[in-house]
Formats: sequence, structure tokens, C-alpha cells
Amino acid sequence: MKKFFSLIMVTSTLFSFTSCGKSITSKITDNAINQFLEITKIPRPAYCHEPMLNYLSNFAKAHSFNYASDTCGNFWMDVPATKGYETKPKIILQAHTDMVCEHEKDYPINFQKDGLTPVIDDKNHTITAYKTSLGADDGIGIAMALAIATSDIPHGPIRTLFTADEEVGLIGANSVSNEVIDSDYLINIDGENENEIVYSSAGHLIARHNKVIKMQSVPSTDKKISILISGLMGGHSGIDIDKNRLSAVTVVTELFNSFSENKIDYEICDMDGGGNVNAIATSAKTTIAIDSSKYNAVEEIIKEVTSNFKSAYPNEDLKIEIADINNDAKCLSLDESKNFISLLSSFSFHQGVIKKDGDRVITSSNTGTFMVNDSFCEIGTCSRSHVTADLDSMENEFKANDEKCGYKYIYGSSSPGWDGDPNIKLIALLKEGYSESYTDTKLSSMHAGLECSWLSSKRKGIQIACLGAQISDAHTTKETLYLDTIEPCVKAIVHAIKKLADLN
Ligand SMILES: [Zn+2]
Repeated sequence: MKKFFSLIMVTSTLFSFTSCGKSITSKITDNAINQFLEITKIPRPAYCHEPMLNYLSNFAKAHSFNYASDTCGNFWMDVPATKGYETKPKIILQAHTDMVCEHEKDYPINFQKDGLTPVIDDKNHTITAYKTSLGADDGIGIAMALAIATSDIPHGPIRTLFTADEEVGLIGANSVSNEVIDSDYLINIDGENENEIVYSSAGHLIARHNKVIKMQSVPSTDKKISILISGLMGGHSGIDIDKNRLSAVTVVTELFNSFSENKIDYEICDMDGGGNVNAIATSAKTTIAIDSSKYNAVEEIIKEVTSNFKSAYPNEDLKIEIADINNDAKCLSLDESKNFISLLSSFSFHQGVIKKDGDRVITSSNTGTFMVNDSFCEIGTCSRSHVTADLDSMENEFKANDEKCGYKYIYGSSSPGWDGDPNIKLIALLKEGYSESYTDTKLSSMHAGLECSWLSSKRKGIQIACLGAQISDAHTTKETLYLDTIEPCVKAIVHAIKKLADLN
């Protein structure tokens, strides 16, 4: 099968991507597609730097360009200016080398050693990979940067920068040295939507909040019940945070706070809510001990809370199920149970969007995991903001809340916000370039992490924009690259480069 699809690839390459008699941007586009097909042959999961570093340094040597790399696997190559344009502003074209490696169960592949098998659909003008992810995120970004940098267009100095390990926490962009970002203009070619320019992205702060606890026996007059919350939509804690999705953490804290308001004491035996700090919690399960005489009241509260949330969130399919439990599991003390709910409520209070500017989300927070087991209680949070100072003040507030409840604050990871400006010159030039292909270009502020967050923190006043060809289903075996969307993106970048070369 592998050979068969390789044949399709080779034939299509010959028929579709030859460049006789074409415009300069069509030639660059053909070159970029051929370059991308070459890149699909190279293994490039995260942390596997060598094959791509070899490929890129051979490319630089073949063109007699200076190049360098660092110990983190970042690679950069300097393309000298066209004669007469040496004093024009330098531009950095940047993309990431690693890809998310997914494969179908019936197609075993060693991503550390094996290349992919691209499949070109000539009718629909797309490329996918045979039973694996394609790595167009961000292989096509590298391919476009190489094709543009080696084209015949007049340009000032160009640096192509290819960062490592983006998919596992923006590691390369975080660690690249400030000296490598020695330009006032940087185009990040890692966008996935045609005709869109991203001008801002959010930084993040991931933290855990935990306490080692001792369980005790359940009082003999108590009855144990389990409560299962399910049916919620969930979603990405950045991209979907402003879509009015109900989180299981909100339901849990509302339930327990209603118990307290109705003077119903509870001891928590266990709790398991959410699954990932980056995702809005879709479900939670808890076992609690309550006084047997309060069972009916608890049932009533659950009914009321369910109906209130159902009318406030008609698109969610919320279910809260209650069942009797008969086991000899222990529980938290009454005080420790209330203490846990009090801390969880302080995070749940911030669940969702915290600050907006018009439609643009600036700051948000998500409590993605919350659990009580027989040795400790733990809550996991992921906060995001385009303004780094907002993350700092949230961190201080979290630490104070943790301390008040006797919990430990455990820092996970963070990145700065890229609070970009849509009115910069670079974006105006890219928009002008896109106008050759589209009537109106979308400018987006992305409430999720991009390498631009780190790169913008390395040089004061640097103008950065992110764009790319259309990719759908990235990070899955259905990942698809839409070939007709490459040339408009090439045109936009080429236009910006030419215009910058005309600057004094
Ligand atoms: Zn990417």
C-alpha cells in the first residue's frame, strides 16, 4: 500500500507542480509544495531533532547560506539581501519543525525513523497522509519559508528560523536566544486558517493546588451516596472558553454550596472531576456521606440545581444522577470537606472569561481537574491572558487562597502573553498582499498559546504576525492541507517582503 500511494505522490508532483511559464508566486508555491513533500519524508516528532537539522543544514550548504543551530534543536539560516537591498530591514520567517504524530491502529509506524506517505487528491487539491497525521502543521510553514527565501523576489536580509518542540510546550521558541531575534519584523507561518492574520495570543499559567490529608471513618448515622455529573460539552480551555460552556466544576461547587445553605453537612469520601487542565470539565463523580435523615433534602437540591442549570444552559445535556453506596471507604472530616469546597469555589468563581475587550477575550481561567482520593486533595488550573501582568496577579491570588486553606501551590508551567496590535505596519502589508486573493482578511486575537508569545518577549517593539495555509483536522490522521490556499499566503508574505525592501 505504501508503494502504491508513493506512486500517486510522485506522478502528481510531476504533473501538478512544475513551473514553466508561471508567475513568480506560482513558482514559489510549486516549490513550496515540492519542498513540503520532501519534508514529509523526514521523521520529526518532538524531541527528535537530528533528521530535520541535517536536512536544513544540507539545504543551507547547497545554497551557500550561513546557518546555525542551538542545543534545543532550533535552526536558523541567513539569506543575504538582493544586491542593492543590503541596508533594508531584515525580516524573520519562522515555523516549527516538530509535528504531532498520530497513526491509525492498523498502520504501525516508527515516527522516529519512518517518513510519511503523502496522498495527493488532484480533484480536490488537497494533501493528506496515508493513515497518519500529515505534519502540514507546521511542515508547510517551513516549506513556504524556504521557497520564499530562495526565490527571485527582491528582498532585504531574510532569516529563516525553525523552532523545535512547539507541540510539547513551545520549548524551542521559549529557549531561543534573544540575539537570534535580531529583526524588527517576524512572520510566524503556523496559522491554520486561510485569509486570517493572528495579531495576538494568550500566555498561560498552569498550576496545581494540593494537600496531603488523612481520611477518617464515616459517622455511623451517615448514609453514603454517589453523585455523577455528566453530559456536558466541554471544549478547549482557551479557544472555547467564551462559548458559554458549563463546566462540571461550576455544577459541583453549586451543589455543595446549596447543601451548606440548607444546613446539610457532608463528608467527602472521594471526588474525580475533569480530566485535563487544558479542557473544560465535562463530568465529575463524587461519593459523600450525609446524615440519613437529609437524603430527601439532598435529592430535592439536586433536582433544583439540575433544573436551574438546564434553563441557563439549554445547549448542554446536563445529567446529575444519585445512587446509594454501600462500602466501608473512609472520608474527609467535615471541616476538611468544607475547606476543600471553599478552595474549589474560589477557583470556580473565576471559571471562564474574566476580562474582555469588546468580543476579544483578554483573560480567562479553567479548573480542569479536581480530585479527592484516600491520601490527598488536588485541584488543577490553567489560566490564560494576553496580558502577562494579569497572569502574575492571578498567581498571587491563587497562592493566597491556597495558603488560607492550608494547600500547597505547585507551579506547573507558564508563558508570557503576546498582546499584539492589529494596526502595525507588518499586518497592513500582509493584508494588502492578501487583497490580491480575497476581498477581506480576518484579523484574529487567539486565546491560546502560540510561539509568538515567547518570540515577542525577546525583542522590544518587534512587529509579529501569524498566518498560514488552510489546514483542517491538524493533530489527527485526517489532517488535510488545502493546496489552493498556499499561493494567497505566499503572495501576502512576498508582498510584505517587497514593500519592506522599499522602506528607507
Ligand atoms: Zn503548529
